[in-house]
Amino acid sequence: MEYTTLSNGVQMPLLGYGVYRMSPDECHHGVSQAIASGYRLIDTAAVYLNESAVGQAIRESAIPRASLFLTSKVWIQDMGYDATLRAFDRTLARLDTDYLDLYLLHMPFGDVFGAWRALQEIYRSGRARAIGVCNFSTARLADLMSHFDVRPMVNQVETHLFNQQKCMLRFCHRYEIQLEAWSPFAEGLNNYFGNPVLCEIGERHGRTPAQVALRWLTQRGIVVIPKTVRPLRMIENFRSLSFRLDDEEMATLSMQDEQRPLVGDFEDPDFVADLCSRKYDL
Ligand code: NAP
Repeated sequence: MEYTTLSNGVQMPLLGYGVYRMSPDECHHGVSQAIASGYRLIDTAAVYLNESAVGQAIRESAIPRASLFLTSKVWIQDMGYDATLRAFDRTLARLDTDYLDLYLLHMPFGDVFGAWRALQEIYRSGRARAIGVCNFSTARLADLMSHFDVRPMVNQVETHLFNQQKCMLRFCHRYEIQLEAWSPFAEGLNNYFGNPVLCEIGERHGRTPAQVALRWLTQRGIVVIPKTVRPLRMIENFRSLSFRLDDEEMATLSMQDEQRPLVGDFEDPDFVADLCSRKYDL
């Protein structure tokens, strides 16, 4: 496993396992297999409704809790000082753990400032080793950082071949924020796995397009959390760490940028209104 060091010194694996859109049963099996395949970072969220399944898989594994890196997120309806503190306790109970490695604001909506106050408190109490955000623009990050002592250590955003986040990455380097890529395969959209550049570079290395896509991100220092329910793909994705792309290949891949999200457009008011209107039993 390769690691990156967060601004507070915490070591975070560069590659992890995402469990979005998995039923509890799929998630239980998936996380068990992922841990057995060598994954140590598991990325879940209250709103994925599978935290208990993650907890069960971790409990059943032979891996000590300290060797794992567990991430979860607070959903919009629980944003706010008191609500976020309560949501965090429920998340810990479902995951059957007494701390998280990383706790994130899932969305930049609702009472963000109240929620960040709660995360600061959780961090200072030691119940989260690191805290951060998701889907924050550089302007929203600047706003948050101007008002608090503890800065986000991670920003998790949609990052892949067609939405390379070059400006965000520069901003994150400047403020020691770790960029983490959600949907590193853009959920397979845009013929992702048939992309001619990924295929051609992959053939040169005897690697799959998926492996090239992940390696290209991790070589840029970006944490990736691909999701798959299939054990062979889990191993394939994990093995993306065992080869290197050269500078010319990195530059060729860099030219594929379309600078647009494919999965979620946070500048689209209808998309935002829809997210904010969803209510869950969390
Ligand atoms: P993704 O990882 O970009 O893509 C998953 C899709 O790719 C699935 O359809 C999977 O199918 C397929 N796949 C996986 N490995 C493959 C391979 N080697 N070859 C071919 N196909 C492959 O999408 P994602 O689940 O949206 O994103 C990953 C994680 O990011 C999530 O699970 C979640 O943890 C996180 N996330 C966070 C946010 C946020 O707002 N913070 C938003 C979205 C996602 P199979 O399962 O059938 O293999």
